[in-house]
Amino acid sequence: MDTNTVSVVTGGAGFLGSHLCDRLLADGHSVIAMDNLITGNVANIEHLAGNRSFRFIHHDVTEYIFLPGRVDYVFHFASPASPIDYLELPIQTLKVGALGTHKALGLARAKKSRFLLASTSEVYGDPLVHPQPESYWGNVNPIGPRGVYDEAKRFAEAMTMAYHRAHGVDTKIVRIFNTYGPRMRPRDGRVVPAFITEALKGEPITVFGDGRQTRSFCYVSDLVEGIVRLSRSDLHEPVNIGNPREMSVLDFALKIAAACGSGSAVIHKPLPVDDPKVRQPDIAQARARLQWEPRVTLEEGLSRTIDYFRSLLAKGAI
Ligand code: NAD
Ligand code: UDP
Repeated sequence: MDTNTVSVVTGGAGFLGSHLCDRLLADGHSVIAMDNLITGNVANIEHLAGNRSFRFIHHDVTEYIFLPGRVDYVFHFASPASPIDYLELPIQTLKVGALGTHKALGLARAKKSRFLLASTSEVYGDPLVHPQPESYWGNVNPIGPRGVYDEAKRFAEAMTMAYHRAHGVDTKIVRIFNTYGPRMRPRDGRVVPAFITEALKGEPITVFGDGRQTRSFCYVSDLVEGIVRLSRSDLHEPVNIGNPREMSVLDFALKIAAACGSGSAVIHKPLPVDDPKVRQPDIAQARARLQWEPRVTLEEGLSRTIDYFRSLLAKGAI
């Protein structure tokens, strides 16, 4: 594997981006995190201040990216990612998926660097094929409230493949399935921080709909390992990275309550529009082409994540 590379991580002050920065630095590389902090937080990278291999640039990547010097990898992670974030920021979400991806690809082309797009299982929409292989084209409502995210990512994938085909940029696309871990924002509205915060505070756990919809949760270190492997591979087609262990949202609520030692009751609220009914990654490609599969059990990952939220609670941060 190559050493001493220079990576740009857009969205580097976010949940996943900051973990990717940590991993690249730990492997001996230099990292430039670029973020406008619209949903991210400098607290996620403050432990890297003073690290001479790390630099933070406050920049909106929908604007032209000027960066002197060598760049070997561009990891494009900038985008609101939680349903409540992208519903509050619909135009910014569309812009960063479209204009931001264009600018990040332009940087990779100018620097002759490799490019990796953080795409999503949302490109499959409310899937009619289950589990979802990369060959499935999806079932997306383009004009529904989630369309701003789903279509932005679908456009981003199309733009990435166009830069590969037309300009010969060495591009990769990872389709990330629900990933969780420390540094998720307590109030970002995603199910893991929502349920853990409610359970730790002894508040009712709010399950949307009847809770029979399913998700499959991957711990962040497993995801980052898959991304690093993909970035070093010669694959250009999208690759699913996620944990195939699927469960209903209601079972997940009960599991989190038990893991937190909480007596919280479950209450139900209306299901958001176009909330996918099932989701499970088919990871045959990642297994065969990257020799990757998840290692961290749900119990272990939840325990580490709950410890993180407990520490926030102790500091009065939630
Ligand atoms: P996050 O909100 O924590 O991180 C996103 C980061 O992008 C934030 O720091 C935000 O400030 C930054 N950003 C947004 N717009 C920007 C812009 N115009 N210019 C510069 N920075 C900008 O979310 P996350 O969970 O870390 O997601 C990171 C990426 O992974 C996103 O692209 C998301 O779509 C993708 N993804 C995440 C998951 C998951 O389960 N966490 C699943 C699928 C896809
Ligand atoms: N959900 C829930 N309660 C919450 C937040 C989410 O029941 O407080 C449900 C949501 O409706 C969805 C699942 O949990 O079915 C996962 O939601 P999340 O927002 O984490 O991500 P999604 O997979 O929908 O993008």
